[in-house]
Amino acid sequence: MRADRLRRAGVEPLHDLPGVGENLQDHLVATVKQGTRGARMLSAEVAWWRAAMSLGRYALLRSGPAAHHGIQVLGFADSRPGLAAPDIQYHLLLLMYDNHGRSIDGADGFMPYFNLSRPQSRGRVFIRSADPTAAPAIQPNYLQEGEDVRVIHEGLKIARDIIARRALDTYRSHEFAPGADIASDAEIDGYIRRTAESVYHPVGTCKMGSDLLSVVDDRLRVRGIDRLRVIDASIMPTISSGNTNAPTIMIAERGASFVMEQHDTVEAAGTRFVARA
Ligand SMILES: Cc1cc2nc3c(=O)[nH]c(=O)nc-3n(C[C@H](O)[C@H](O)[C@H](O)COP(=O)(O)OP(=O)(O)OC[C@H]3O[C@@H](n4cnc5c(N)ncnc54)[C@H](O)[C@@H]3O)c2cc1C
Repeated sequence: MRADRLRRAGVEPLHDLPGVGENLQDHLVATVKQGTRGARMLSAEVAWWRAAMSLGRYALLRSGPAAHHGIQVLGFADSRPGLAAPDIQYHLLLLMYDNHGRSIDGADGFMPYFNLSRPQSRGRVFIRSADPTAAPAIQPNYLQEGEDVRVIHEGLKIARDIIARRALDTYRSHEFAPGADIASDAEIDGYIRRTAESVYHPVGTCKMGSDLLSVVDDRLRVRGIDRLRVIDASIMPTISSGNTNAPTIMIAERGASFVMEQHDTVEAAGTRFVARA
């Protein structure tokens, strides 16, 4: 974060590291909500009494709907030919929801959701107050880059194409969202901009690297400050193309080994441990 921004918030900077808070990346997701008939979907399971029964069954028998993580299918796809690696990730849920899952549709249906695996847009997070309990400002800049809109648009077309296949003829009813009236490229882009959501994979705001905006070096030491490391998802220079939890655990294990390699004193029997970066 730039020193002047810190000063404006009432914090006197010890060291000016302009990359702190920059380079925010996330996996943005859009959905198709497809109604079904004649197939058992999870929508029947979300009534409170069924959910309570499912939880009871899970507690006693470790089985039933509550024992399942909910994702039926997971896959990756290329938004165009010639890519070195896929740039769209698909999940398939056997229910349909809105607003980050706060509102679950009671109708039978399934919902492929697809996210940008390699987003190009970059946002930032920054301090607003010297009060450490005050929330920071988060400016994600989702879909700022046209390429991100193109990729997620292709993701939606691929999902619709799969749903239209003959194998699903018996089960398909109408499309709840975007809906049959959303057909042109402009309408699809508008739907994506109105409804796309985060899948909660924010990373990158203390990136590892050697350029002027990098915050930590390749041993996760904060540039210009002794004995301080950042060891979490924020050090990713570029977001992982799949889910972020496993890569973050890898970062944590690697970071822990860096700390252990450079320790000054370890008292085996006690707990005193002094790490030197
Ligand atoms: C709703 C949701 C669903 C997700 N689903 C998936 C998924 O299905 N698969 C997947 O791979 N990833 C998923 N993720 C992403 C994954 O959880 C994150 O990428 C990962 O946890 C990042 O790890 P982290 O250590 O960087 O941050 P965190 O896991 O957020 O850890 C930060 C820690 O710091 C602590 N902390 C915060 N402030 C302070 C303070 N002032 N003092 C002391 N401690 C503090 C917090 O309590 C927390 O324990 C999901 C995330 C969310 C939010």
